[in-house]
Amino acid sequence: MKKFSLIVLAAALALSCTSKPQVKYVFYFIGDGMGINQVMATEQYNKATGNGPEVVNFTQFPVRNFITTVSGNSLVTDSAAGGTALASGTKTYNSAVGVDLDGNPVTCLTEWANAAGYGTGVITSVGINHATPACFIAHTSVRQNYEDISTQLMSAPVDFAAGAGFIMNRHSERTPEEFEKMAADAGISLFKGPDFTGVENTEGRVICLSGKTQQDLPYAIDRQEGDTQLSDFVKAGIAYMDKHFGQKGFFMMIEGGKIDWACHGNDATAAFQELTDMAYSVDLALEFMAKHPKETLILITADHETGGLMIGSGKYEAKPELLAYQKGSNVALTWMFHEEFFPEDEPFETPSWDDVKEFFAENLGLWEKVEVPAKEEAALKDVYDKTFGKGGNKNLSSESLYSVNSKLVDEAVNCLDRIAGYRFSYGSHSGSPVGLYVTGACHEAFREVRDNAEIAPTIAKVAGYKK
Ligand SMILES: [Zn+2]
Repeated sequence: MKKFSLIVLAAALALSCTSKPQVKYVFYFIGDGMGINQVMATEQYNKATGNGPEVVNFTQFPVRNFITTVSGNSLVTDSAAGGTALASGTKTYNSAVGVDLDGNPVTCLTEWANAAGYGTGVITSVGINHATPACFIAHTSVRQNYEDISTQLMSAPVDFAAGAGFIMNRHSERTPEEFEKMAADAGISLFKGPDFTGVENTEGRVICLSGKTQQDLPYAIDRQEGDTQLSDFVKAGIAYMDKHFGQKGFFMMIEGGKIDWACHGNDATAAFQELTDMAYSVDLALEFMAKHPKETLILITADHETGGLMIGSGKYEAKPELLAYQKGSNVALTWMFHEEFFPEDEPFETPSWDDVKEFFAENLGLWEKVEVPAKEEAALKDVYDKTFGKGGNKNLSSESLYSVNSKLVDEAVNCLDRIAGYRFSYGSHSGSPVGLYVTGACHEAFREVRDNAEIAPTIAKVAGYKK
């Protein structure tokens, strides 16, 4: 009886939200590639290494659902079809940006919020025209139409946009500067990081860029002094929105884009630090909510899981503390590896197995701090032989979707991950369900959401957007 009345109460609350919109401020976070195991493993990693909070803030939200992510033409979605479902509630084919299965444009949350007079923001840690943000900006048949997406941004109903930079089409002769000029010509003010102080004092539309790179911001694990980070964009975005749309209300999409990249590259430590980094931006939204508790809605979800991350070493155990010895992502470690063994001004000298072991002892803790089982050492030695052995290819590389690394470095990182008990099944997306975590005004309305296409229409209802 008690359970029944609770259900009735929840339903009544949800109904009151949809019949009379109560939400003024919406923060919609998308952790690209962030499966449920990624979230849980990040908490284990943080607890064991002190890297960040033991409890990732959004795992404590009152709504925590599993949602399905299938696309319109596959049981396994890509980020474009996933982004389109999350932005517009429409299922489409993989690689489609803001168009339906027949290629017709479908409107999305930023357009709906704008039509109702709300401010809109789109923020990402990767290129501003990459798949996920693109679904909140543009409509195009193929996600690789980067220049088309950038061009559409100039007239899109997006007040505040932020991302690493403008990614160019493959083999294009155009330059990012061309698009920066296009923005200026459209009357959009352009800012470059990492310092965005005062951006909120700008009248009119704003675009914030990293100031260094176009494709992506550096991984959290590799970040150097002076690098722009996701939270710099989010801080600036909130200040801008508060100043210009504090009265009316606003919608912001914020993507942690490189959780996916790290998982494509099968680098567990880089992924866990990236996820923690997005959670720091969630903290900023929570701070805003503390000031406007009755009118702020915060949602965190993912477009899909990446890599088929498993927890467990095969021996009913996992040792996240061992991951503390990894000093950089496999991308940064590849750079360091090249500096060490391929010095620019000196003739190449084949490094010995002991030299290579010393490098991995220093940068991954292998042998020195982490016991390496004979089977793992043999697997790594095999890649060493294929790289530096007789008849080997000293430039042997391994390619994932977003990086080309030294094969030996990748194998060493995988070796540490396996010993610690965090191993990936493969280098692409999986069809596993992902989490939906919701708090704040009208969070009850999301209790029954079971699929990624149901989120956007529900946000539109509780916030009173014009579809
Ligand atoms: Zn991906």
